[in-house]
Formats: sequence, structure tokens, C-alpha cells
Amino acid sequence: LVRLRARLARSQNSLGKGLLTLLSRDNLDEDTWEEIEDTLLTADVGVAPTQELVERLRERVRVLGTRTPEELRALLREELITLLGPDFDREVKTEGGAETPGVVMVVGVNGTGKTTTTGKLARVLVADGRSVVLGAADTFRAAAADQLQTWGERVGARTVRGPEGGDPASIAYDAVKEGIAEGADVVLIDTAGRLHTKTGLMDELGKVKRVVEKHGPLDEVLLVLDATTGQNGLVQARVFAEVVDITGIVLTKLDGTAKGGIVIAVQRELGVPVKLIGLGEGPDDLAPFEPGAFVDALIG
Ligand code: GDP
Repeated sequence: LVRLRARLARSQNSLGKGLLTLLSRDNLDEDTWEEIEDTLLTADVGVAPTQELVERLRERVRVLGTRTPEELRALLREELITLLGPDFDREVKTEGGAETPGVVMVVGVNGTGKTTTTGKLARVLVADGRSVVLGAADTFRAAAADQLQTWGERVGARTVRGPEGGDPASIAYDAVKEGIAEGADVVLIDTAGRLHTKTGLMDELGKVKRVVEKHGPLDEVLLVLDATTGQNGLVQARVFAEVVDITGIVLTKLDGTAKGGIVIAVQRELGVPVKLIGLGEGPDDLAPFEPGAFVDALIG
């Protein structure tokens, strides 16, 4: 929690502390509630969730009457956790089939941290005693396969790659085939996220998905979004969700933004849980997303 708190310091300062300070005012007048609303909107919580939260807070503060800082903190904590959907299943599934490894496809726009996330996830799985094969199906960005392979070598996972500009689907197919041949537990497939045309993206990701499913079940399609891009991230999320069934969201670069409220907005947008969060560039900077711990880090 100490580390999470340090990494979320920016959001903590503006969102968490901001809300607590405002709520602690003696006179919670109309202006103060507006400031609370602004604080939430500035942190990218989104319009509808902001209104819901303010309404619930107002009602609860009213019922409470006189209030201590501890009561206010507990109340804010509860309401933020409610907003984050405490009942979502946030486990990254990697079960696979009877004879096939678990398969996870990682999608998202280039630059969001897809390759890094794939590498970090491989590290987590290997540390957990699972054997991992990486599929470098991002053939669009020249250095992506090298980057993924470097991660693979670091964590002890073989990387299946093809020629630069090669067919992503055939690399994905080969990666799962290799995973089966090796008896690997999990295959992670890094894909390319070209957004210039939706049909292009749809064709490519759809094809990767189809060829992977020729071997066996696809356990997860994780959408990687860069938390620092704010509303733009939501636009991307929408496009990807139209193209492929997203099963979980990875929100990266939360260490670099004061807009931690985007977690709430993006889940609301897709109806899909944030499963992992990126908190830095280092190999250990990928964490499971837990609403309780997240809120505790935010409100200190
Ligand atoms: P891709 O094009 O989507 O595969 O993006 P990369 O994985 O190459 O990441 C782009 C940049 O973002 C790299 O410099 C990463 O180190 C950085 N990055 C990825 N995740 C995080 C994160 O959680 N926090 C920070 N601060 N940087 C990150």
C-alpha cells in the first residue's frame, strides 16, 4: 500500500486530498458541492458517475448531521469503492483448454504500453510458476518484437516472432502452436493497434482472434489504455470494444497522472473491469487492481 500510495501521489494530491478537504468544511454549501463536483470532473471520473457520487454524498452527509473527519473519510471511502464496482471479477483468466495453454490477447493503441504490459504480465506469471510463451504479433511497430523478446529473455519466456511487417494472425497462430508443443501454461499475444481505419483494425484483430481459437479457447482480451490520455482513452476504448470482445482493461501510466478517476469512467464506458494497473516502467510495476487498496491510496 505504501508503494501504491507513492505511485498514485499525483491523483492522491488532487483527487483524494481535494475531496477530503472540501468535505471537511464547516459549511457544506452549494459552492462547496460544486467544487467537489469540479474536483471529480477534473480527475476524469466522468459526468454521470460524478453526479451519482455527489448526490449520494450529499444525502449521506445530510443524514449524518454533525460529522467527524473519520466519519467523512469512511463515508467517502465507501462511496468511491461502490463507484468502482467492488463485485467485478478482476482475475486474469489463464486456464486454457484440456490440451491447450491459456491464451491472453493484449490489444490497444501503440504507445499505450502494450508491449511493456505483456512483458510485465509474463513476469508475474513466471514468478507464479507458470511457463509462458510470448507471441510478437505487433508487426507494425518495427522495434516491438525486439522489445518483447528482451522481456522474454529477462523473465524466461520464449518469444515467437515473424518477419517485420508479417501477418500478425499467422504469428499468433504459431505462438499458440508453440505453446501447445512445449506444453506451456500460458501464451501471451502482443498485437498492433493501428487506429487509422476501424475496418483495418477489425480485420486484423478479428483474424488474430479467429486463428487463436482454432487451437482452443481464448481466455482474455485485455485492452491497454494510457491513463494520461484522459477522454481520448475513452474514445479508443469505444472503438476497440466495437471491434473485439474486451474481457478486461489494463490502465497504464497511473503513476504519471492526477486523473486517476479515469478508472471509474472507463469501466462505466465499457462495462468491463479494470483488472491490472501500470504504475511505472519497471518490471514490477504492474499490479492487480483492487478497489479498496486503490481508494485507500487515494484518500491517504
Ligand atoms: P506499445 O507501443 O503500446 O507496445 O507501448 P510500449 O510498451 O512500448 O510503452 C510505451 C512507453 O510507455 C514505454 O516507454 C514504456 O516504458 C512506458 N510505460 C508503459 N507502461 C507504463 C506505466 O505504467 N507507467 C509509466 N510511467 N510508463 C509506462
